[in-house]
Amino acid sequence: MFCPECRMEYVEGVFLCPDCRVPLVAELPPGPTTEFVEHVTVFTTGNSVILAMAKSVLEGAGIRCFVKGEVLQDLFRIGTAEIRVGKEDEERAVRLLQETNFSPGEGE
Ligand SMILES: [Zn+2]
Repeated sequence: MFCPECRMEYVEGVFLCPDCRVPLVAELPPGPTTEFVEHVTVFTTGNSVILAMAKSVLEGAGIRCFVKGEVLQDLFRIGTAEIRVGKEDEERAVRLLQETNFSPGEGE
């Protein structure tokens, strides 16, 4: 028997998790439902300076974010990087970036 909350395994005969006080289940639901986070892109830029600034704004607000792709500081090939955050932080992140007045995609 397993606790669906803390995922601890218990011996037969136990029907309630003493820690979480929830009924045990015979099998855990597939996949870690609590840890799965869907990520969405909130910012795209080809400018590494703007990218770093945007990232620090988000991190300063306590939003966990990561960068997908990279900005190539090359005169001829400018790459594009995306800042991705968890879906739950999407609205906050977008609003923050709007308030900070970054212009995505603007780069020379
Ligand atoms: Zn439990």
